[in-house]
Amino acid sequence: MTPAPLESFDNDPSVGATVLTEDQIAERIAELGVELTADYRDERPLLVCVLRGAYAFLTDLARHIDLPVEVDFIAVSSYGASTRTSGVVRLVKDLDVDLTDRHVVLVEDIVDTGLTLRYLRRSLEARGPASLEVCTLLARESADLEGLGVRYVGFTIPGEFVIGYGLDVDERYRNMRHIAVYVDPGV
Ligand code: 5GP
Repeated sequence: MTPAPLESFDNDPSVGATVLTEDQIAERIAELGVELTADYRDERPLLVCVLRGAYAFLTDLARHIDLPVEVDFIAVSSYGASTRTSGVVRLVKDLDVDLTDRHVVLVEDIVDTGLTLRYLRRSLEARGPASLEVCTLLARESADLEGLGVRYVGFTIPGEFVIGYGLDVDERYRNMRHIAVYVDPGV
């Protein structure tokens, strides 16, 4: 049987201008890996991946950290199937690992309004970690990164809704290798 062709995003009208190429993403993640390796030397950091958007970032980032890292996963929902935040964050899947006395790095896909991050920070800090830092691949130019305590940022980007490299619309485009502006067909 001939295998089905891989999904191509080349002719998809919803895939707009490229925001970050595959190479740009890879290069920056390697740099972040070096930074985290230096900052957490002699430790065994726990990388907490915020599902689902950060899954691609986590897997690449973890492989650039030259330390015995552990990973765990937490899932929250604030967007549902829409491109607008509902304003309410809901815990969909909790962690399995106990955070007590652990050095935790929360790995996020994008910090937009900061609502999700504020919720997660409150929830994780209450569990008594030795430290808690945030590493996000993307952050909006408008986000108050200092106020939100975000230590590691891959790229800051403008306001448009983006897709690819883990980021979806209604569960699509997560497996696109680059990050592009989403062109809403209904607009
Ligand atoms: P915040 O709570 O900071 O407003 O939003 C954070 C979450 O909203 C992200 O983890 C992500 O799931 C979603 N989000 C925000 N902006 C975008 C975007 O441009 N594209 C996609 N696909 N998701 C986004």
